[in-house]
Amino acid sequence: MKLLEYEAKRIFETAGIPVPRTGGVITKAAQLPAALRRAGKGPWVLKAQVLAGGRGKAGGVKLVKTPAEAREAAKAMLGMKIATHQTHGSALSVREVLVDQASKIAREIYLSVVLDRREACPVVIASAEGGMQIEELAKSRPEAILRERVDSVRGMEPFQARRLAFRLGVPVSELGSFVRLVSALVRLFVDLDASLVEVNPLILTAEGRLLAIDGKIVVDDNALFRHKELSARKDPEATALEREAKKVGINYIGLDGNIGCMVNGAGLAMGTMDTVALAGGTPANFLDVGGGATAEQVAAAFRIILKDPKVRTILINIFGGIMRCDVIAQGVLEAVKKVKLSVPLVVRLEGTNVAEGRELLRRSGLRMEQAESLWDAAQKAVSAAAR
Ligand code: GDP
Ligand code: MN
Repeated sequence: MKLLEYEAKRIFETAGIPVPRTGGVITKAAQLPAALRRAGKGPWVLKAQVLAGGRGKAGGVKLVKTPAEAREAAKAMLGMKIATHQTHGSALSVREVLVDQASKIAREIYLSVVLDRREACPVVIASAEGGMQIEELAKSRPEAILRERVDSVRGMEPFQARRLAFRLGVPVSELGSFVRLVSALVRLFVDLDASLVEVNPLILTAEGRLLAIDGKIVVDDNALFRHKELSARKDPEATALEREAKKVGINYIGLDGNIGCMVNGAGLAMGTMDTVALAGGTPANFLDVGGGATAEQVAAAFRIILKDPKVRTILINIFGGIMRCDVIAQGVLEAVKKVKLSVPLVVRLEGTNVAEGRELLRRSGLRMEQAESLWDAAQKAVSAAAR
C-alpha cells in the first residue's frame, strides 16, 4: 500500500525527521487562505497529492509567492488530471493539494531505504545527485549511487550513517542531524514493514539545514494486519467496489472486460482469467471468494460483480476441495435467491461430490449453463457475453 506524500511526511514528523512547515491538505480552493496562514509566511509550494512521482515536471508542484498566485495554482491543480512517467499512460485525478512553506534549496540529495532481497536486509540508497530520477541515474551513472546495507536487528550503525554523510558531502555542522535522520528512516522502514521509504529530495536549505521536502512510503500489504491504523485508512488506489469487497473479506480487483469471474483460490482465479482470455473474452475482474465459499460470501460476490455495469455475463468456477461441490451449489442457489441476476450465468463445478452439486443446480430450475470443463466454461461465458 502506497502512502501519499502528506501522510509520509506526517509519519516523518513523528519520527523526528525534519519536514517543512505545512498548512495541510486542501480539497477546495476556499480552504486555501487558512492553509497558507498555517504554513506561515510565503513563498509556498502547492503539491498535487497523487500516488506517482515526477509530479514536478507534470505541473503537480507549483512554487507561489503571493496568495493570489497560490489561488490560481490551487484552482488549476484541484481537479486536474496528471500524467507522469510513473502513471503508465493513464492519468490520475487530483483531489487533494498539499500546501507547504517553500524552502530555499542549496542542494538536493536522494535518500531511500529498500529491501536487499539477496542479502535479506534493508539497504540505504543515497546519491548526491538528488532531485533527478534515480532510475535514470542508476543507468547513466551507477557509480553516483551509494549503498549501505543495514543489519535489520541492530539498525543503522552511526559509523555507517557518517560514512554516507561524508560521501554525500553533508556539511560537518549537519552531521549529527543526518545520522539521526537516516537512523530514523531505517527504523521506520523496519517498524512499518515497508518495502520503500524514500526522501527525494532531501535538501540542504540555504541556511544549511536538512529538510525532507518530499516523502514516499510503501507498506507491504501482507503486513497490514500489524498496522491497523494504516489498513483502516481509505486506500486512494482502491475503487468503490474494491473497498466494498475488502470489507467482506473478498479479494477483488476490477478490470476492463465484461465477464465477471467468481472463483475460489487466487491461483484458480488467475487461471480462469487466462482461460477466458484464451477463449477470446476479457475478464471484468479478479475475484477470489476465499476458501470457504459460503452462501454469504457468494451472495456478496454476486452483488459486487453485478454493480459493475460492464459485466455482461458471470462465470463461476469453483473447485470443491475441502469444501464439497454440493455445499457450494447450495451456496450459489441461496445467493441467487437473495440477488436478482440480470445477466447470464455459467457455472463450472469440479471436485468432491461434483455429481451431487451439478444435480442440485440442474434440479433448481434456475436459468444457467453448466460447463463440463474450464475450457468449456470459458467458451460458454465468452459467447454469452457476446449475445
Ligand atoms: P516529484 O516531482 O513528484 O518527486 O515532487 P517533489 O516534491 O520531489 O518536487 C519536485 C521538485 O520541485 C523538487 O526536486 C524541487 O526541485 C522542486 N521543489 C519542491 N518543493 C520545493 C520548495 O519548497 N522549494 C523549491 N525551491 N523547490 C521545490
Ligand atoms: Mn520527489
